[in-house]
Amino acid sequence: MRVYRSRHLIRPDLQAHINSGALLGNVRNLKSLCKPATKFCAVIKANAYGHGISETVNILQKADVDFFAVASIYEAIDIAELTAEQSILILESVNVASGVDQISLCAKNGWHCVIASIGALEFVATSLSGSDMVLDLHVNVESGMGRCGIDPEQANLLIEKIQKCDNTRLAGIYTHLATADEEDLSYAWQQLEAFNAFLAANDLAGREDIIIHAANSAATIKMPESHFDMVRCGISMYGYYSRRMKSPPIELVPVMKLQAPIVQLKTIGAGHSVSYGRSFTAGRETRLAVVPLGYADGYFRSLSNKAKMKVGSCVANVIGRVCMDQLLIDVTDVADAAIGQMVTIIDDDHDSPCGVYALSSLAETICYEILTCVHAHVNRIVH
Ligand SMILES: *Cc1c(COP(=O)(O)O)cnc(C)c1O
Repeated sequence: MRVYRSRHLIRPDLQAHINSGALLGNVRNLKSLCKPATKFCAVIKANAYGHGISETVNILQKADVDFFAVASIYEAIDIAELTAEQSILILESVNVASGVDQISLCAKNGWHCVIASIGALEFVATSLSGSDMVLDLHVNVESGMGRCGIDPEQANLLIEKIQKCDNTRLAGIYTHLATADEEDLSYAWQQLEAFNAFLAANDLAGREDIIIHAANSAATIKMPESHFDMVRCGISMYGYYSRRMKSPPIELVPVMKLQAPIVQLKTIGAGHSVSYGRSFTAGRETRLAVVPLGYADGYFRSLSNKAKMKVGSCVANVIGRVCMDQLLIDVTDVADAAIGQMVTIIDDDHDSPCGVYALSSLAETICYEILTCVHAHVNRIVH
């Protein structure tokens, strides 16, 4: 099976600086919350939350990572050559439309797959029958997420069938928490209780040959009882709490800083309007700087007239509508603004006016979306 790549453009002027020390430090700090034997699954779906999947995998070779979790088989193919030491867990469930070649590719490469239905298992069994290939399967048990898991009443039959089939191995049992990032953890504890009851009823707890897992970043940080044999961390590795915490138990340092240069400067008189729709009118003589980045690069249009950017140590307002690949900032009070000077668009400081928390609150979204939207053609520069 092949993954077809289109010619891939990288824009050298749009720069996402990736701080490898911060990434490795975050993983270290997260692991310090776990028992030494707890495995660490680094979640690198969505282009490693916008940080660049191959760059991130390469940096994490220096960390003690056991698994890389990706969304689809295509990402597994994409990073296969970079991950000799670690296993890959594909989060999308195998299903009857997966294709025989995909099932055998996963088995051949030792990629762990998620399964959540009896029908899918029958398909896997048929796909691999007659071969000596064995597919490692993790059963996704529904405990209250209300998404892809199999109901506990059917999960025991699925587990039985996996263990009976010569071409499949029960490698893991897991669940996913819906509210671990919220302040009120009562539903998350309820989910954990349901999951524990399932494990106990099926004699799965304490089995050496399977990996039991449940914790995402928030649960890794706030619910040690959810760690089991492995934690699955995404957002926290990249330096963010799923939701900003008042007194976090560990330090997380933002990994990415996004910058682009000023490409044009011009002055407009008071009363002149700026950009599409005339949503901003200058109240004074105003010096504008054009930054060659817009919503097509992942900078939300909803940030128009709201967000700030940093030019040197000065803060400048985004004024007028954010365009497809351009936006304007007000540099009237930035004495030394110059063409070619780099503007900080997403800062790597939690308290910055253009930090990810500030931007996600202005755009009424979560930090995940701000990060994952940074376009693949932005040049990731690893430091
Ligand atoms: C994306 C994902 C995670 C990571 O969640 P974070 O909140 O980013 O840590 C963990 N588990 C599953 C199943 C996921 O899909």
